[in-house]
Amino acid sequence: MKKFIKDYNHEELVDFFTKIGEKEYRARQLINWLYEKNVNDFSLMTNFSKELRKFLDDEFILSPLTIEDRLISGIDGTEKYLFKTFDNHYIESVLIKNEMSDEGRLTVCISSQVGCPMGCRFCETAKIGFVRNLSCGEILDQICHVRRISGLKNNNIVFMGMGEPFLNYDNVLKAADIMNYSFGFHLSVRKITISTSGIYPAIERFIDERRPYNIALSLNDTEPTKRLENMPVEKKYPFKMISDLLSEKTTASRNRITIEYVMRKDNISKEDAKRLKKMFKYANIKLNLIPLNEGNHNLPIPTKEEIEDFVKELEIMNVPVSIRKSMGSDISGACGQLSGKKYKQEKELLCK
Ligand code: SF4
Repeated sequence: MKKFIKDYNHEELVDFFTKIGEKEYRARQLINWLYEKNVNDFSLMTNFSKELRKFLDDEFILSPLTIEDRLISGIDGTEKYLFKTFDNHYIESVLIKNEMSDEGRLTVCISSQVGCPMGCRFCETAKIGFVRNLSCGEILDQICHVRRISGLKNNNIVFMGMGEPFLNYDNVLKAADIMNYSFGFHLSVRKITISTSGIYPAIERFIDERRPYNIALSLNDTEPTKRLENMPVEKKYPFKMISDLLSEKTTASRNRITIEYVMRKDNISKEDAKRLKKMFKYANIKLNLIPLNEGNHNLPIPTKEEIEDFVKELEIMNVPVSIRKSMGSDISGACGQLSGKKYKQEKELLCK
């Protein structure tokens, strides 16, 4: 079976080209074609000989994903992409405009797994369950497709799509390093954010390895018993362990850390605000508040006034807060909704 060329980093490509008797600089040229120029055919790589282009085409698959669907929100311009993998699974990416990003730039939210094993109660992807990890090439190809189809060059990448990125640590970090190459996408480390539900050993490894990317931790409840009801990860890796780790280690690291907090009616009381304040006493972190998306979850959605009261409470206590709007609510905004529908349709067809 052909391999995915986007699974290879610079070092591996240097190795490959050297072995076939080509010069080392071919690796840089290839990365430039794949990501900076973003071509979708080896035949377009005109500074390679015809023989080399044919050889690459015989050996490798350039684009491991095919586009299945693209929806554009009439409300805020958010674009949602549904991709099919080579083994007939579905993953999603979202292009977000003027949101979740500094200075109103463009952000692509990408997936790291097909489905997810973490079982968060408010999440559509959780309902699919875990299928498999995405390869490095499948992670990068999402950005290539989104850039080519939309015609827009994004500045920010967030690993907040389908899957728990820290359960696919090696491929996620390899992809992030490739995004950072000056001769590829050339995205600065400050523009790449990895979001996690709280996989303690991976967070510790990430900090110890001095990885330079931003981390977003999904908290969503201030009381452990309540968090456990919504996020089963709390049982194995209680959030307290993670906040202690951050207090101990983040002063030595340069990582920007945000806490993601999806607001429900029942997690935005004055007591919740006080408990959040306590958590913020030790580590230099920012709180990112997200209103709960309408979805198939039976969780109580707060009113605008309740959200405003909660934010006011936090601001009085000087907790650094930002509020993220719910994007693309008219196009199945929550990750996993489109794939979930697709799996359901296929199951129904099979049952007929
Ligand atoms: S919220 Fe994230 S970690 Fe939790 S089930 Fe969904 S995709 Fe997985």
